[in-house]
Amino acid sequence: MGPPGVGKGTQAAQMQALLGVPHVSTGNILRVAIQQEGSALGPEVRRFVERGRLVPDGLMGDLIAERLERKDSVAGFILDGFPRTLEQVDILDGVLGRLGLELDRVLMLKVPEAEIVRRLSGRRTCPKCGSVFHLESRPPATAGVCDACGAELVQRPDDTERVIRERMKVYADQTLPVAEAYRSRGLLIEIDGFGEVDAVRARLTSGLGKV
Ligand code: AMP
Repeated sequence: MGPPGVGKGTQAAQMQALLGVPHVSTGNILRVAIQQEGSALGPEVRRFVERGRLVPDGLMGDLIAERLERKDSVAGFILDGFPRTLEQVDILDGVLGRLGLELDRVLMLKVPEAEIVRRLSGRRTCPKCGSVFHLESRPPATAGVCDACGAELVQRPDDTERVIRERMKVYADQTLPVAEAYRSRGLLIEIDGFGEVDAVRARLTSGLGKV
C-alpha cells in the first residue's frame, strides 16, 4: 500500500524476484486492458483510470478473483494497488477464503508529498511490460527505451498534475481507511519509502520478517 508514486510498483517488481511469487498490480492489469485492441474491458475502464478515479469495485473484484485463481498464485503473490476501498477489503477476504489463503502482511510505504510529486513527474513507464523508470534517479540504459523489453517508454496519462491531485485525494478519502482496517487486524507495517530503491527494499524485506 501507499499513495501514488510512493514506489509500490518498483518495489513489488523487485520483491517478485526475491520471493519467487507473482507481482499482481491491478494498475498494470488495467493499463494492459486499455491498450488491447478489441478488449471489452478497455474502453470501460479507460475513463476512470485517465481521470484518476477508481474503477468500480464489482469490476475490480471479478478481475482480482480471476487473477488470484490462476495456478501461479497458489504459492503466494504480492498485491500492488489492491484493495483500495473498504468494499475491496471484503471482496479480497471472500476470494482468499475461497482459496484457503490468508494475507501475511500489509506493507505501507510512506514518503513526503514533495518527493511524490518529483517522482511522478519524472516517471516513465513501459506500456508493454510495465517496467518503471525515472528520468533522474533510474534512467533506462538508452533514453526512452525499456531496458527489459525494448519498447518505447511513455509518460502515463494519469501522471499529469491535475490527475495526480485527484489520485492523491482519492487515496486519502478511500484508501487510507483500508490501511486502518488492516492496522486493526494487526497486519499493517509502515515503512519509510524515502531514499534509494535498494535501501527501501532492505527496509521492506526486514518488514516482511515482522508480525
Ligand atoms: P496504479 O498503477 O496502482 O497507480 O493504478 C492506476 C489507476 O488504475 C488508478 O488510479 C485507478 O484508476 C486504477 N486502479 C488500480 N487499482 C485499482 C483498484 N484496486 N480499484 C480501483 N481502481 C484501481
